[in-house]
Amino acid sequence: MPTESKHPETIVLHAGYRSDPTTNAVAVPIYQTTSYQFNSPEHAANLFALKELGNIYTRIMNPTNAVLEERVAQLEGGVAALALGSGQAASLFAVQNICHAGDNFVASTDLYGGTWNLFLNTMKTMGIEVRFVDPSDPENFRRATDARTRCYYAETLPNPKLTVFPIGEVAKIGRSLGVPLIMDNTAAPVICRPLDHGAAIVMHSTTKYIGGHGTSIGGIIVDGGNFDWEKHAERFPMLNTPDPSYHGAVWTQAVKPLGPIAYILKARVTLLRDVGAPMAPFNAFMFIQGLETLALRMRAHNENALKVSKYLAEHPKVSKVIHPSQQTGEAQRRAAAYLKGGLGALIGFELKGGMEAGKKFIDALKMFYHVANIGDARSLAIHPASTTHSQLTPEEQQQTGVTDGYVRLSIGIEHIDDILADLDQALKTA
Ligand code: PLP
Repeated sequence: MPTESKHPETIVLHAGYRSDPTTNAVAVPIYQTTSYQFNSPEHAANLFALKELGNIYTRIMNPTNAVLEERVAQLEGGVAALALGSGQAASLFAVQNICHAGDNFVASTDLYGGTWNLFLNTMKTMGIEVRFVDPSDPENFRRATDARTRCYYAETLPNPKLTVFPIGEVAKIGRSLGVPLIMDNTAAPVICRPLDHGAAIVMHSTTKYIGGHGTSIGGIIVDGGNFDWEKHAERFPMLNTPDPSYHGAVWTQAVKPLGPIAYILKARVTLLRDVGAPMAPFNAFMFIQGLETLALRMRAHNENALKVSKYLAEHPKVSKVIHPSQQTGEAQRRAAAYLKGGLGALIGFELKGGMEAGKKFIDALKMFYHVANIGDARSLAIHPASTTHSQLTPEEQQQTGVTDGYVRLSIGIEHIDDILADLDQALKTA
């Protein structure tokens, strides 16, 4: 292994690859190939039987993707990862890998809207029931659990509320009942490692901070290797009984010689094989470039965001600032417990002038981009009430935290003076 370092700055540059074995190229090559020649019939047979791990077909694995997978796995403190074509594919696979028709899972109400829709509507058509619970009381997860509950799902730093999820509390409840916690850590790479707090699986939309430059769509799932699927065999028949889709393999047994990777290997060789949502090798290359500066960028994002939140908190046209630095009580305690080295770069704020002020503010921005994305090196803004969250009822506004005057910022790494100047001139119009 090219690095044993525990430091994110080093892992993102050195984990999983030193140089290309045939050309000595230092940059990770883009292996733009569909297929890999087998050395012999025996080699081919071993690969298909999983007696040996190796490349077969790029729908299932690719050497460029493998470097990204190794780096993100080490960054998160996990044992293996699976790169996919989008964050949405990663959310779906993470759950579907262990949750089948007739099963249920418990998810936090504070989720990205796309995930919410996937879970509530699309997964319902697959016969999978999501049970949404308010994460402010971790015990809600226990109360919603029954014998058919296969996992818990939440986001580390969900927007728009930006209240850090009680990772350790919910992971502990889950472990006492044999239910693994899956964390979407898209908004908090480097500053939070959910696996360290008891989560079993982590996923990212790599589209955001990992890519960092707004060029590519991708997702990744990391297996913590820290959940005892065999101990909870009744809850996870899909990992502990013969799988007809793979010659009757019992995943927890078949994978033993390869390490605690039953969950992620099953996702790769059954779901990814069958559904086919791979990350393109070119996109994996782009994410590898982004990953190299991730730790550095996160520092700059965090520092700028802290200054913006202070500036907004003192602005006369702003009634409320939503950022962990402005929180008190339990939310503040959680931010301190789970975020290290920064509080994230997403900021919400409410304009006293409501809907019209929100639209005017967005229209007046000169440097910030008006986009639905987050986690770009550039500063981004959106007014959800007139875009992503139009048509909300007052109850839904209350539940989501998106009021008429709510604006979401994703603070970039430009010079802080330019960020504040753009906000200042746009606020004058609001
Ligand atoms: N999770 C979070 C927290 C997100 O913000 C997003 C996208 O906005 C996703 C998942 C979905 O990722 P993608 O757009 O890469 O499919």
